[in-house]
Amino acid sequence: MLVNGKLIASQIVNEIKEIVAKIVGRKPGLTFILVGDDPASESYVRSKDRACAATQIRSSVIRLPNSTSEKDLLAQIDQLNNDKQVDGILVQLPLPSHINESTITQAIDPEKDVDGFHPINLGKLLQGDDSAIIPCTPLGIKVLLEKSQISVSGKHVVIVGRSNIVGKPLAALLMQKKAGCNATVTLCHSQTHHLSDITRSADILIAAIGQPYFIRKEMVKPGAVVVDVGINRVNGKIVGDVDFEEVEKIASHITPVPGGVGPMTIAMLMQNTMTCFLKRTDLV
Ligand code: NDP
Repeated sequence: MLVNGKLIASQIVNEIKEIVAKIVGRKPGLTFILVGDDPASESYVRSKDRACAATQIRSSVIRLPNSTSEKDLLAQIDQLNNDKQVDGILVQLPLPSHINESTITQAIDPEKDVDGFHPINLGKLLQGDDSAIIPCTPLGIKVLLEKSQISVSGKHVVIVGRSNIVGKPLAALLMQKKAGCNATVTLCHSQTHHLSDITRSADILIAAIGQPYFIRKEMVKPGAVVVDVGINRVNGKIVGDVDFEEVEKIASHITPVPGGVGPMTIAMLMQNTMTCFLKRTDLV
């Protein structure tokens, strides 16, 4: 069965739009910083900005040249941290190689960290602290499974990919001792031995690798749920990390690419912006 992330995300976006419409006075505000002219980053920021327009969240995009120094970028972030009109700050990654990403991530006020990449938010997530802002893609996957009536509790969830933005926070999230979580998580990566044996033991298999068609049907247990996080460009087409045509035949549920996890990530960005706004409204 196809898990329609696009539809579920659009329902969430509509719910947020209704909440924003009822806010009297200052509406939530999100500022994007885009450094350089990477076409993929341009397109991600455009999609996120469109979602702001759809929800009536105020948004602005600060475009900086590729030559921007780390010092100047830090000064820009500092200004936004102190701007009472700004509830969320998103610096689109990757950054040019002369800028240290973790220095930038750590400079964002954790209360405005809509991406949830600040070490304080990641630490809170690991500790199960409900005040954590959870990174958008992991949160989107959790919500997508919940809304599709797929419980992760007690299941063996295998995640392939251990990045700081997807694999690691997703593992931390699904293993929480909390309703909607309680998964038994295995996190795999490029050094994992006998990868296929592990993926074949998954009740829920999540691919966040960045390699087109990497997950073949031989790697999937019949009846498993398969979540494809990958976004890869092949001959001008966007494809996932899963060989969809093959795996669809044996999976009980599968997310498509595009139209699966991607729209959920953007919907969760809107949700995180609302969360930051609501925490801050008594301060403004
Ligand atoms: P990274 O490149 O940061 O991480 C990829 C991970 O995959 C690494 O942990 C790497 O292992 C692992 N890996 C690579 N090759 C293999 C292999 N042969 N066997 C097992 N593991 C392997 O990628 P991201 O996490 O940033 O992104 C992953 C994919 O998800 C990309 O396609 C990206 O575009 C997409 N993405 C989609 C989003 C969405 O909203 N749908 C959001 C974010 C990302 P090791 O650590 O050992 O190098």
